[in-house]
Amino acid sequence: MKLPPFGYEAPKTTSEAVELLAEYLDQASVLAGGKSLVPLLALRLARPAVLIDINGIRELSGVSVTDGQAVIGAMTREYAAEESHAVADTVPLLAAALPLIGHEAIRSRGTIGGSLAHADPAAELPAVARALDAEFVVRGQSGERVIPAAEWFEGYLTTSRRPDELLVQVRFPTAQPGTGVSFQEVARRQGDFAIVGLAVSLSLSDGAISDARLAFAGMSDVPVRATEAEDLLAGERPSAELFDEAARRATEGIDPPADLHGSSEYRKKVGAATVRRGLRAAADNAQERQ
Ligand SMILES: Cc1cc2nc3c(=O)[nH]c(=O)nc-3n(C[C@H](O)[C@H](O)[C@H](O)COP(=O)(O)OP(=O)(O)OC[C@H]3O[C@@H](n4cnc5c(N)ncnc54)[C@H](O)[C@@H]3O)c2cc1C
Repeated sequence: MKLPPFGYEAPKTTSEAVELLAEYLDQASVLAGGKSLVPLLALRLARPAVLIDINGIRELSGVSVTDGQAVIGAMTREYAAEESHAVADTVPLLAAALPLIGHEAIRSRGTIGGSLAHADPAAELPAVARALDAEFVVRGQSGERVIPAAEWFEGYLTTSRRPDELLVQVRFPTAQPGTGVSFQEVARRQGDFAIVGLAVSLSLSDGAISDARLAFAGMSDVPVRATEAEDLLAGERPSAELFDEAARRATEGIDPPADLHGSSEYRKKVGAATVRRGLRAAADNAQERQ
């Protein structure tokens, strides 16, 4: 399908990109991997006057680990993060989710920042970011702001980034010893967007759960934390009965959307099953990592 006409800018530095964003504001779209933006252009669901292509900005790519955080540049390709030992060692939940995004060809172009700026509620990375309380660093002409994940996702494909700001990096807390993870998802075919996805991180200390984090994808217009289930789990010892009750609490207050792929009721049932499976898998993983 032919794309609509647009102007094109290719800054070489973050400062140049920020200047361009300040000039064009909501007339511009940032082009990262293009895996979500180009289909939106083709379908005329986005009609920016100008594309600001940030693929030439080297300083926006890479992974570094410092002060208990893994700092991932916005232009780091999903596939590069998947192959990164630093990510596998320090943010195992992210490492578990990355291979579930589309297919290798998609991940070789798609970027960490692009997925999180796009904020598709069915996508894997927003659920991971929400579960781990990641931080989003955006830069505008007046400087940088750090936005917690709880404030980043505002609605369907909508974030709290202002039109004059560029997402420059995402910071994930590094996993503590004794933390097990699991990313569960149910999709029609391998590589499809999840009908329901669940990011789970469970930390064990002396056999009891010291920290539980669960975030759903596909259950609302934003990724959703299952806080009632998290509260129930804290301080308890893992058991099938506990995980059944957590599954009930995680889904009882949620009213998921219905679409071609499943009714609201179906999503709730699948959501409960992913909680049971995800908690079992994360508990096993935590025991292995102790
Ligand atoms: C066939 C197919 C299957 C897919 N399956 C999945 C899947 O299973 N799970 C999944 O999560 N995703 C899936 N995707 C989407 C893929 O992961 C995309 O790579 C990702 O959603 C967007 O990343 P991108 O780098 O391509 O961003 P782009 O498409 O370039 O940009 C997406 C949006 O984010 C904005 N943006 C990008 N970078 C920045 C930045 N640094 N600062 C501010 N705004 C920015 C853009 O302006 C645009 O609005 C699929 C895509 C395709 C084509």
